[in-house]
Amino acid sequence: MNKVIIEKPRIEQVEGKYRLIATLIYEEKKTYDLWFEVEKEYKDYLCAENSDAFLVAILSYLIKHELDVEVKGAISSQLYYQLTTYLIPLLSNNLHKRNIQIKTEVNNVEFHPKAVGTGISCGVDSFYTFLKHRNQLDNQYNITHLTFFNAGSHGDNGGKEARELFHKRLEYVSGFCKEQNLKLVTVDSNMNEFIKMSHFATHSFRTLGCVLALQKLFKIYYFSSGANFNDTAITAESTADYDILNVQCLSNQNTTVYSSGIEATRMEKVEFIAHHNETYNWLNVCVRHEKATNCSNCEKCIRTMLALDAINELDHYANVFDLKHYQKNKVKFLAGALKWARDHDKKNFEKKEEYGEILSYYKKDGKTVPAMAYILSFIPTKQSFKNLIKKIVPKSWLKQYQINKGTYKNNGWLD
Ligand SMILES: [Zn+2]
Repeated sequence: MNKVIIEKPRIEQVEGKYRLIATLIYEEKKTYDLWFEVEKEYKDYLCAENSDAFLVAILSYLIKHELDVEVKGAISSQLYYQLTTYLIPLLSNNLHKRNIQIKTEVNNVEFHPKAVGTGISCGVDSFYTFLKHRNQLDNQYNITHLTFFNAGSHGDNGGKEARELFHKRLEYVSGFCKEQNLKLVTVDSNMNEFIKMSHFATHSFRTLGCVLALQKLFKIYYFSSGANFNDTAITAESTADYDILNVQCLSNQNTTVYSSGIEATRMEKVEFIAHHNETYNWLNVCVRHEKATNCSNCEKCIRTMLALDAINELDHYANVFDLKHYQKNKVKFLAGALKWARDHDKKNFEKKEEYGEILSYYKKDGKTVPAMAYILSFIPTKQSFKNLIKKIVPKSWLKQYQINKGTYKNNGWLD
């Protein structure tokens, strides 16, 4: 049977930086040197004593392709137990995959790490985590290091473009870290080019793979959640939907991972960060890949501006959003929000996350949604026309005529 072998990890210096590398042997004879790269300052924290980082980073790939794995270096005993007893069987069952086997030794090497880290993208979730963990009663829970990884969020399949965007965005977040006088730990990796799966469908494993590569550094890692606890479910679309399970199963004797923000809704997070002026010049939510700043025009930018406007905090963000563009198009944006909320929960859309929640905050404050927004929200858009076509025309026809080209394959667990 086809399997993947993860050879023992090693550390090498490459052009002034340091890489934790393990050779993967797959499809019988093919090899791939998978690496995690850090700056010189963090080289001593790279963990070659176990292969936790590599196994976790490619876990989604292994399950998707139903490949057993032989790990030549050891796996942390706690991680092995949690993976084989809970996470892999649960994922296999729910995603209708074979329960893959791990052949390895286990060990229990303790490094007594001291740092407390979290990723910083300057988006709503990461700011929420950062701001929540500055003044904890017991300061051992306060963040000491911020992180920024090239692990899929800059381009699903990695490569040159994704790496360029990683560096562009890194420049941006470095400015914030400098202002806050906090250490920034970066990890570059070539895992994306190997895994070749959707970032959303796999991101918890990719990110926590990077964290485990630095398990000598991180005692605690807060993994910001984009999902709410009440929506927990194992889905093929997003690992965030079951992060509460992931963080427990991917912690080990050195690093404890928490799913930060799982206790709050999106609007609760927006409201929380909007009361902290540290975010006013730095909030960055844009999903467009051209620049590292907000475009004020993509779905995520529009949704965030609507959310901030709903609680009367948008004016604070004049340096990061084009507020003239927002005011000019506000009715149109509200119409889009009404339509989304209606389409996603016809009965009680105000309870629904995202736009439904934004609209309920908007009205809670006594603001009225203009009548024109309601009228516009019922006018069919190009997208709703496409959706209607998708509903009534057989998929095989659509494929043939490429009406929804590019939407069939999302490169997730099931394709
Ligand atoms: Zn944008």
